[in-house]
Amino acid sequence: MKQKSFYLTTPIFYPNDKLHLGHAYNATIADIIARYKKSKGYQVYFQTGSDDHGEKIEKKALSLGISSQELVDKNVELFKKLWQKLGIEYDFFYRTSSLSHKEKVQNIFQQLFKQSTIYLGKYQGNYCIACEDYVKEKVCPNCHSETKILEEPAYFLKVSQYYQQLLDYYQKNPDFLIPTAAKKELFANFLQKDKIQDLCITRSDIKWGIPVPDESKMIIYVWFEALCNYLNSEKGEKMFANEDSEIIHLIGKDIVRFHALYWPVILFALGRRLPDKVIAHGLLLDPKGEKASKSKGNVVDPLKLLEKYPQDLLRTYFIAKISFLQDGNFNEDLLKEFYRDFFINNLGNLCQRVGKGKIIELYENGIVPNFAETKNVYLWNYYQTCLTVIENYQQKMDNYQLTSAFQEIENLLNASNKLIQELAPWNLFANKKTKLLNLTLNYLRNGIRIIAFLLTPIAPSSSKVIFEYLNLSPDDCNWENIKNFQLIAGKKIKFLKEPLFPPL
Ligand SMILES: [Zn+2]
Repeated sequence: MKQKSFYLTTPIFYPNDKLHLGHAYNATIADIIARYKKSKGYQVYFQTGSDDHGEKIEKKALSLGISSQELVDKNVELFKKLWQKLGIEYDFFYRTSSLSHKEKVQNIFQQLFKQSTIYLGKYQGNYCIACEDYVKEKVCPNCHSETKILEEPAYFLKVSQYYQQLLDYYQKNPDFLIPTAAKKELFANFLQKDKIQDLCITRSDIKWGIPVPDESKMIIYVWFEALCNYLNSEKGEKMFANEDSEIIHLIGKDIVRFHALYWPVILFALGRRLPDKVIAHGLLLDPKGEKASKSKGNVVDPLKLLEKYPQDLLRTYFIAKISFLQDGNFNEDLLKEFYRDFFINNLGNLCQRVGKGKIIELYENGIVPNFAETKNVYLWNYYQTCLTVIENYQQKMDNYQLTSAFQEIENLLNASNKLIQELAPWNLFANKKTKLLNLTLNYLRNGIRIIAFLLTPIAPSSSKVIFEYLNLSPDDCNWENIKNFQLIAGKKIKFLKEPLFPPL
């Protein structure tokens, strides 16, 4: 059977500065999805990159006395370093300052101009440099910085022409943009007959960008060309040419309008298919519920964080504690608390209980006994929980209910600890109830195996550590044999002298 193609993108980020935690969150969630899809046999192509152009970057470079190219090159190195430290296994890093991007964007511009989707007009209004966005107000409604007045001849994208086509598309594909709240907001503010506006897509007062073909003084609006990154990469182009591939854009909710309104219009105009889904996740706020900003001093540098805490802790926190598609809170105390609760007291403790002390020392040297079905009500319930968790986890991951999928892992952890209380294996040993003890040990160690497997896309290093403890390699487990409780029978699990997850 031919593998289904799955194309996943993060936004491309502005290299005017280092990345902050919200970017790390986005890329981590994308990486978790990509790893999960790979485990399900998809041919995954995962693209990220940098949005190298724009006034914000031009100004920053000027203030530093270096060229714009130097500035973005320097910061892109930091982007890549962060992705490496976070374990982001992207396939391609796209850069909009590449020559091929420039050529392709100019071709797109020309094609749309020829077919009158782009027309020459005059822009009169305000512009927010921080957001690289045309706004009506003197103070930007999004970031509250002072905007500048622009009045210049400019090219426009005829967004209004596609109003009906957009409505029809949303009608036919109600889950094109999730969550529903993001869609409601988009429709309320922009996608209405009297509100839909053409988009100004050129600037005359900056230099750092892609020139309009035959208009050397005009620069193509940074958002217009940035969106084209998804289509302009070699592999991305193939994905968009293939109706059968699944295409997902994972973005923050602050850039919904660009991805769910302008990008579809560009694709309509080019006669292209649309992505299958635009997923708009929430924002990371400090414990007071404030957005990160330099003036408030609550900006978190993820690279610094990763010098202090394990990669898996941050990755797991993101999926577990930031309820997916909603805003969430973050600070270091919450992170440490989560490490204690989940990694040490729950996951680590469970492995310890089944791998240390009397059970392993006194019984069969840690050899996992055979599987058999049983009428024992505790074991029977536990077995059913394992099977249910496996099913629910997949269903939720497939539907992008990521936090809820993670909770399935917690359910199995809790059920495992409960089973130990209920059956007290050390008593079974003392009372020579060998048959029941055998089954209990088989079931519990399989429970741990399932937990490790389901954690693989989320916390790859931690799941590897647990597999090692079970004397397995991550490659030994897959969706075909996940329910096979005989898989580890006869294996000798390791004696845990040290906790799997040491205190920070
Ligand atoms: Zn702004």
